[in-house]
Amino acid sequence: MSTEKTDQLKFRTRAIHVGNEVDAETGAVVPPIHMASTFQQPGAGEWGEYDYSRSGNPTRAGLQRTLASLDSGCGALAYSSGMAAIHGVMMLLEQGQHVVAGCDLYGGAYRLLHKICSRSGIEVTLVDLTDLDAVRAAIRPETKLLWGETIGNPLLSIPDLKGLVAIAKEQDILFGVDNTFGTPALIRPLEMGVDIVMHSATKYLGGHSDCLAGSIAVSDPDLFDRLYYIQNATGAVLDPMSCFLLSRGLKTLDLRVREQTKTAGQLAAWLETVPGVRRVLYPGLESHPQHALATSQFDGHGAIVCFEIDGDFKQTAKTCKATELFRLAVSLGAVESLIEQPASMSHASYDPADRERFGITDRLIRLSVGLEAVEDLQADLLQAIKQGLAS
Ligand SMILES: *Cc1c(COP(=O)(O)O)cnc(C)c1O
Repeated sequence: MSTEKTDQLKFRTRAIHVGNEVDAETGAVVPPIHMASTFQQPGAGEWGEYDYSRSGNPTRAGLQRTLASLDSGCGALAYSSGMAAIHGVMMLLEQGQHVVAGCDLYGGAYRLLHKICSRSGIEVTLVDLTDLDAVRAAIRPETKLLWGETIGNPLLSIPDLKGLVAIAKEQDILFGVDNTFGTPALIRPLEMGVDIVMHSATKYLGGHSDCLAGSIAVSDPDLFDRLYYIQNATGAVLDPMSCFLLSRGLKTLDLRVREQTKTAGQLAAWLETVPGVRRVLYPGLESHPQHALATSQFDGHGAIVCFEIDGDFKQTAKTCKATELFRLAVSLGAVESLIEQPASMSHASYDPADRERFGITDRLIRLSVGLEAVEDLQADLLQAIKQGLAS
């Protein structure tokens, strides 16, 4: 099918067909996995479509076509992890340049910026991205990149993407977002004028907790070339087996995310009525500070729910340990539900002072809602909260 024709197809259809063309040689409806690390060349100093798998691999190329299509980009790159993808973006910067990033950032991104990029003389300022004036005030002449998450982590804050795009354009800086929590099923930031969209594909895109991967998509071919150059030079590409697993996961992305979002909405509303729960954070609840923005900006409110219990650090840890269906684990976005305590797990790499300042309390619990029946998840949470608070 021609590119013009596939562009007309709906998201769900493209997730299955773009990049998954029937194998011309065998008719296989699932493209073969190309494990080759090197490819025979037409002649010395002559180059075919592929030469060496770090620079290009047919399995990765198919996946990248799917990713670009789902993110509405001109191209996409598949990385060995989400962190490798973020690092690829940060390597666009040079010594002395500055990044403005959201204050409830993924713990690993916080560490990358503060402990690794800082070594190369790249400075970072964290700001509340829901406050556009604060963002504008944080931008300096050396600022080159604005970096945020479409749904903040773990407080599920929602930045106004159109407002941030306007600031980035007016200041002539790049604007990149980590859309891991949002997923391209619910929001496609490139369509709103964002320059770079990144995913930890380990989460919803893969969807089955069995593959570590990252992706970047952009709509500017020159920016794509710069990111490709960095990736090829530094080597954090996705291996063929993981490319296959990710391609397979993407085929059901839309269905999974919609169903998980539905269950998450039901759980969030129910949690607000549970004794011992003091605050529920979910963009789909009217009590969420950016509820109206979230509703207009996204096609659904996502499948991460956070809540605080009436307990201390220990009781919160105990609640997380007491669940039987929710697995006590970091990560998110897969078919099985997960539970974690951000203060001791996903956000342990924050300085305690920054955790305190940004409201990541000891009693906060984060749920990644999977595909189990909502009744079973409710019963599991109820018994765990009772056990945790009884101690
Ligand atoms: C997991 C995660 C990452 C890092 O991705 P890895 O695949 O673990 O390297 C980055 N951002 C967010 C929001 C994440 O949840």
